[in-house]
Amino acid sequence: MVGAPPETGSAPTIVYADASAITAGAIHGALRALFMEPLLKHCWLHVFAERHAEYIHNLAQRNVGTNSLDNGGHRIFCAFGYAAQVIECAAGSSLVAFALTEPGAGSDAAQITCRARRTETGYVLTGEKTSVTTSPHAEAAIILATVDPSLASRGTVAVLVDLNDPSVSLQRFRDPGFRPQGRAAVAFDGTYVPRSRQLGEVGEGFKQIMREFELSRTLLGLMCLGTARRAIDMTIDWVKSREAFGRPISKFQGVSFPLAEHDTYLEAARWLAYRSLGLRDAGQSHNREAAMCKWWMPQIACQAINDCIILHGHTGWSEEMPLMQMQKDVSGLQIGDGTPQIQKLVIARSLLGREWV
Ligand SMILES: Cc1cc2nc3c(=O)[nH]c(=O)nc-3n(C[C@H](O)[C@H](O)[C@H](O)COP(=O)(O)OP(=O)(O)OC[C@H]3O[C@@H](n4cnc5c(N)ncnc54)[C@H](O)[C@@H]3O)c2cc1C
Repeated sequence: MVGAPPETGSAPTIVYADASAITAGAIHGALRALFMEPLLKHCWLHVFAERHAEYIHNLAQRNVGTNSLDNGGHRIFCAFGYAAQVIECAAGSSLVAFALTEPGAGSDAAQITCRARRTETGYVLTGEKTSVTTSPHAEAAIILATVDPSLASRGTVAVLVDLNDPSVSLQRFRDPGFRPQGRAAVAFDGTYVPRSRQLGEVGEGFKQIMREFELSRTLLGLMCLGTARRAIDMTIDWVKSREAFGRPISKFQGVSFPLAEHDTYLEAARWLAYRSLGLRDAGQSHNREAAMCKWWMPQIACQAINDCIILHGHTGWSEEMPLMQMQKDVSGLQIGDGTPQIQKLVIARSLLGREWV
């Protein structure tokens, strides 16, 4: 919130939630609450992303990190909306991760090798997924596997796997950001998946995930904007209160103009996200717009937060303040759901034609 100018030149006091009071149980509960919210408010996704950023800001403390709406739940809802398991997820009774990436297949996701061998009643999974957000807390995960790696994307099938199965093992990462959610490598050693947990036809899995990316890339962009907006709001408060050379530092153009520039970028980017969501609502293609959101928004958000850190002076560059954590969180979103290079490839293909890129 932007308050009245302080009467004295003392530094403003900024009070944040006590990180030590945030327990693992509270985080898990918060994840469940967040998990439900995009489902309930999917008509107001942009509002959610902003509110989410506000909410996660309070959670984002030095030992905790920032949360994210990037959980498997909304992915299930969007990509596999017809599946019965959606009910469990929408009720918040099941937390579901999403696993596409493998140690040998990231950007080139069609090259996955995690194997789904058919049996009479389902599949047996063998292989490894990695970088799976939320998996340390999740009960289940949507896994994109292949019935035959030589078929590339035409051999892919999505299945919902119980992560508590004894044949599944997790190795959690030590991440700089997204700490409450966490990421892990997930290995499957002969994991049985009944046919009832197959989500879509063989050969459709890759296409389903790609369609889902059109939404999630837009949302991840909005999350970054929300986080950056929060950093700007904090910085507005700060620069009006902090004095140097006998006046509030907001009086220096070197301080106010970067804020004006970031305000411009964030506003423009927000409308690009609305455009992407509007096209989606209208049932039109928005692959290009989603890719634009995904490469540009994390970048401008990182730049905005970086300037906010600088405008806070030595106070900003501190683990005691949330700004550094916000920057670490947003920086991870440059990579998750596809790197900037892959997004620009999508845009260039749409601009020039696939055969020219
Ligand atoms: C915070 C975070 C959360 C994540 N959450 C999930 C999750 O929940 N589930 C999941 O499955 N995965 C998740 N991932 C993984 C993520 O989707 C991959 O890291 C990403 O797709 C890139 O794959 P890679 O890491 O294997 O990099 P690589 O594909 O090895 O790429 C390495 C570099 O080469 C570049 N490159 C590759 N191909 C090209 C090309 N054709 N042209 C130009 N440059 C290229 C890339 O842009 C990148 O800079 C997450 C990652 C992060 C960081």
